[in-house]
Amino acid sequence: MNLPDIAEAVIRRKEKDIKVYPVHSNHASEAGHECERYLYYQRTAWDKKDPHDVTMQFIFEGGNDIERQAIRELQDAGFNVVEQQRAFQWPEVELTGRIDARIQIDGNLVPLEVKGLNHREWTNLNSIDDMLNSNAPWVRRYPAQLLLYQMMSGEEYGMFYIKSKSTYVPKVIWCRLYDYLDYTEEILKKLERVNKAVKTGQIPDRIPFDEKICFDCPYFTLCQPDAKLAESAEILVDPELQEALERREQLKEYKKEYEEVDKYVKRRLKGVKRAIIGNFVIEGKEVTGIRKPSPGGPFSYWKLWIKPIAKT
Ligand code: SF4
Repeated sequence: MNLPDIAEAVIRRKEKDIKVYPVHSNHASEAGHECERYLYYQRTAWDKKDPHDVTMQFIFEGGNDIERQAIRELQDAGFNVVEQQRAFQWPEVELTGRIDARIQIDGNLVPLEVKGLNHREWTNLNSIDDMLNSNAPWVRRYPAQLLLYQMMSGEEYGMFYIKSKSTYVPKVIWCRLYDYLDYTEEILKKLERVNKAVKTGQIPDRIPFDEKICFDCPYFTLCQPDAKLAESAEILVDPELQEALERREQLKEYKKEYEEVDKYVKRRLKGVKRAIIGNFVIEGKEVTGIRKPSPGGPFSYWKLWIKPIAKT
């Protein structure tokens, strides 16, 4: 039996879900980002960002699954959870966002954010201060997201429902706006500076090079925080490895071009059942299936086989 490489097929398929969306405002989930230059690029150069890789895509989707699980757990425990994934806007600060849900507590609808964390991080987090002092830059950004929503809607309390990605056990961390008013004001001032920079085109300064933030930054290539980087870097002399890195960079470009040409070819060949063009034979057929979950019911697409013919 010919055993297919199933994991590889799944990963290749998942790569197709990676998308870069236009950004026209500050986003609450990123407002706690420590680099104003990053926030400026998000508004002005989102089309130049390096797309996230397939591992991040799996992590994002895993996060969505944990969120659904969390809401179900809360409802099963008898809590009223409403306004799931409700979008919000705060035009004065050019801020948009989405709150995971609101949970009814003592007659109030408390904003709720669900986060899935690795077990060590989950164990270490027991308060908003723990989040703000975390070693993980993305965890330090969590409170700003909830606090901005609380500030905008005038809610005194917000709630984090955090789940370990190993045991799936939940933990609740309450967030009281009045304990973090100064911090929230600082975030708002930062967003105002970003808004001003976007209007004037004055690019904010880079943060001091921080490998945990800058190496993960999708604008690394655009920003080139290299001057600081060179000071702490070990210089490797290995022509073979250098050549492989350069080739890798070139092939990245080809991958993009291949995907664009592939889309064009497939669009042009939609509906063609059998054809020969130059040195290629084309076979095509309509394939139908059911989406799971199936909000849109059955779907169909034109499946193509494109094979080069050996030249005689
Ligand atoms: S690479 Fe570093 S300094 Fe440059 S935008 Fe990204 S986070 Fe900011």
